[in-house]
Amino acid sequence: MKHELPKLAYGYDALEPYIDAKTMELHHSKHHQAYIDKLNTVLEKYPDLQGRPIEELLSDLQNLKAEDADRTMIRNQGGGHLNHTLFWKYLDPANKMDELVAKEIKSTFGSMDDFKKTFTESATKLFGSGWTWLMRDGKNSKLIIQNLPLQDNPVMLGHQAILGLDLWEHAYYLKHQNRRPEYIENFWKVFKF
Ligand code: MN
Repeated sequence: MKHELPKLAYGYDALEPYIDAKTMELHHSKHHQAYIDKLNTVLEKYPDLQGRPIEELLSDLQNLKAEDADRTMIRNQGGGHLNHTLFWKYLDPANKMDELVAKEIKSTFGSMDDFKKTFTESATKLFGSGWTWLMRDGKNSKLIIQNLPLQDNPVMLGHQAILGLDLWEHAYYLKHQNRRPEYIENFWKVFKF
C-alpha cells in the first residue's frame, strides 16, 4: 500500500486573504506530495512496514526493523506526511475545535486569549524549522504547548496532537517573507474555536 496525498476538503483560495492560494497550492501539491513520495520510496525496501498506518510507524520508530538512515527518513518524511495531513484539517473552514477541548484549554491556560498568547510566544521563539503543538500528554492527559523540531509529531513522544502550526518558511515566505508574527496572527484568523 502506497501512501497518498489526501484531497483538500476546500479550495486553495478558501483561506484568502489570510493564507494565500499560491502558498496553499505549493504547500499541498508540492511540499506535502514530496514527503509522501520520499516516504513511499524508503518503504519500498520494507514490505512489512508498507501496510501500517503512518501514526503507528511514527509511534513505534525505535522498534522498526529498518536501517538507521532509513528510520531517519521515515521519521522526517513520514512526520511530514502526518503533520501536513493534520494541518489541512486544522485549517479547514468547516472545522471547529471540539467544545470539550476548548473548555479544557480555558481551564488549563486561564482563557482562550491566554492560550493563544502562550502558543504564539512559543511559535515566535522557535529557532529554525519546526512546528508549535498543542498536545495531550500521553502520561497524565494534561494539555501542553511545545515546539518540536523539523517534522517531528507528538505521537513520537507518546503524546496526542490537538493543534499544530507549521513554522517552516515554505508555509509563509511567499506572502509574509520574514514576518513570522504576521503569519501566526493570520493563522488565528483562520483557525476556529
Ligand atoms: Mn509545511
